[in-house]
Amino acid sequence: MPPRPLDRIGALPAYRPGRSAASAMADHGIASAVKLASNELALEPLPAVAKAIEAAISTTHLYPDHGALELRLALAEHAGVTPEQLTVGAGSVGLLQQLVLAYAGPGDEVVYGWPSFEAYPVFAALTGATAVAVPLDGQTIDAAALAATFSDRTRLVLVANPNNPTGTAITAADLGVIVDALPDGALLVVDEAYREFVTDPDVPDAVALFGHRDDVCVLRTFSKAHGLAALRVGYLIGPPDVVATVDRTLVPFAVNMLGQAAALASLAAIGEVTDRVAGVTAERARALDVLRADGWTVEDSQANFTWLAVADRAIALGLALEQAGVVTRVFADVGVRVTVGSPADNDRFLAACRTEAVRTAVGLTIEPADATDGVRS
Ligand SMILES: *Cc1c(COP(=O)(O)O)cnc(C)c1O
Repeated sequence: MPPRPLDRIGALPAYRPGRSAASAMADHGIASAVKLASNELALEPLPAVAKAIEAAISTTHLYPDHGALELRLALAEHAGVTPEQLTVGAGSVGLLQQLVLAYAGPGDEVVYGWPSFEAYPVFAALTGATAVAVPLDGQTIDAAALAATFSDRTRLVLVANPNNPTGTAITAADLGVIVDALPDGALLVVDEAYREFVTDPDVPDAVALFGHRDDVCVLRTFSKAHGLAALRVGYLIGPPDVVATVDRTLVPFAVNMLGQAAALASLAAIGEVTDRVAGVTAERARALDVLRADGWTVEDSQANFTWLAVADRAIALGLALEQAGVVTRVFADVGVRVTVGSPADNDRFLAACRTEAVRTAVGLTIEPADATDGVRS
């Protein structure tokens, strides 16, 4: 008999990474394509960050600092918390897995809005906990509906704010509804992977809002705004007990030293990071304006992507965009998520949205604005 995994592991879906531009080109016989599928930053590392990575290469024969102490101290200062309230992990998904392993097992419930980050159900299943997926209210997390599911089996509540894939965010009042209803012994995890892209003043910084509580923690990452997705560095801010617990579950040396060096350098160059983020949010606003002028119904986004909530036309739309050379992330029967890329890539996306094939795929009947309006190509 071949070795058999645990039933719950055997049943896990395989992780589905964003499709590459190269495979889209091969599939559709097109000469070029752009990938706007994984919410990556379109820009290469800042010069100071690239230099720090190069300098760190000479020590890659040594194990990194398991506790990433220097980075942890710098981040704590940056976030205005004590070092005991902060830890780092191999991306915020690494920290999420650590949290789920530490806090939820068979019989426990992990609650989240849905659709949301695709890792949530996978991690819940990994530990044998019961996933409680609460439908969104339109495109937004429904705080009251989440709270209504809480019971003495609720162990973890996962709230992506802004939410992936819909890009919407909830207010301090909504987060308050969730926190006020949290059962004894449950932990709220506010996943702020896209925090840096928030421009709506009504969307709270959960660290500022809940930093004093013993049942809320916040996840942040260097993968999105800092553009360091390949180096796998995320951090968690929360009560010291949660931080200490999470630290016990870290795979030894999981936060690699190139990542530690790059994150430190990126933090030191935060002004430039913020400038780059402003470029992304300006492009986001431009894309939303053009789409709306062209007849699309799209909600505001607080993240580095836009969301086309086309329901059962999602697969057709994703295919039509891909045939036009724009690779997006398709959520079957829900919508299509499109990362804000470089201005040229965004132009390509916006131009693709004006093609007959794409408009037919979603049943758009309104004529698009002037073919060049708002699209700089
Ligand atoms: C991209 C993303 C993350 C970040 O994952 P990393 O492991 O830090 O790269 C976390 N949460 C959400 C909701 C995301 O979309």
